[in-house]
Amino acid sequence: MSAHSSGPWYGGVSDIGRVRAVNEDALLMEPPLFAVADGLGGHEAGEVASELAVEVLYENAPRRADAKALARAVRSANDAVIEAAESGRGRAGMGTTLTAAMLEGSRVVVAHVGDSRAYLQREGTIRQVTRDHSLVAEMVRDGELTAEESRHHSLRSVVTRALGSDPNMLADTFEFDAVPGDRLLLCSDGLTSMLYDDAIGDILARHADPGAAARALADAANDAGGQDNITVVVVDITGEPGHAADAPSSPEASRRWISRGLWLLAAIAIVTAGVWGTVAYARSEAFVTEENGVLVVYRGLPGSFAGVELKWKDWETMVPAYPLGERRLARLREGVRVEDVEAAYRLVDEYRLELIERGLDPTMTPIPPF
Ligand code: MN
Repeated sequence: MSAHSSGPWYGGVSDIGRVRAVNEDALLMEPPLFAVADGLGGHEAGEVASELAVEVLYENAPRRADAKALARAVRSANDAVIEAAESGRGRAGMGTTLTAAMLEGSRVVVAHVGDSRAYLQREGTIRQVTRDHSLVAEMVRDGELTAEESRHHSLRSVVTRALGSDPNMLADTFEFDAVPGDRLLLCSDGLTSMLYDDAIGDILARHADPGAAARALADAANDAGGQDNITVVVVDITGEPGHAADAPSSPEASRRWISRGLWLLAAIAIVTAGVWGTVAYARSEAFVTEENGVLVVYRGLPGSFAGVELKWKDWETMVPAYPLGERRLARLREGVRVEDVEAAYRLVDEYRLELIERGLDPTMTPIPPF
């Protein structure tokens, strides 16, 4: 157990757990900025990635709680992890989650990548405010798994977005007005894979001191098995009331494009999950590409894996691709992945509107084939 400095209104702990040989998690408590990172990659790479991510986040953090600026700092952290892997610090393929919160009075801004989490506790009720970027969370959202099944799924630790692989990676960002008395929790999956949300809420409620609450949470995760590194940051919201008791807004992806690095993870999923589950997974995915000069929407995954293609043409639009410019055209040819087919339609529509605004071919069909 490594304790960390804390103030009267915040505290945290990063614990190696009972099974792992190395603690690949990292935490940051530099008020008003707090973060947890869970390194991926093993063999002394994950810990490099997570440490570097929180360092660079801190160095690039905005002065005010501004979602866009915080997202930029996360992007700098992403660049740094990619660069470090390329330059031989750490390893190729290393990555890290990053869940960061910045406070300004009672205002909370969150930037988030991966399967670490932020929760808000208010009057005894705990609520997850981030959305996991993980394969099983996507399957739960698509109705293919129950939340309980996802806890035991063999692919539960596959993340679909992380720092360290895709220079175009973007964090989810969102902000909300907390109220004094609320408590913010940031944690790695070593906590949430061992304890249900209700148990986490109960422990938080039993400890008035945030540092003691963080230690009690890590202890409970260890008592439950301590299968992974456990990192917990607890922050009490003490600021001015500001705007009254708005519930936190649901997380909104700052952009819906899933990183290209996901293809690699999808490939891993194919190998591990077998074809049966993979086809179901692939069918829920979508991407937009260019064919014969126009935008085309596919269900499935771009490219092929081991000679197998998992894609189904959904809509051949009449939207010309060439006016979108070299860079976007190149990305389109690789396939721009989006959350689902509806998101693909929206993306096509964005491009279409852009072309109309630029006075290019306003005669194109605006209606997707529902
Ligand atoms: Mn973990």
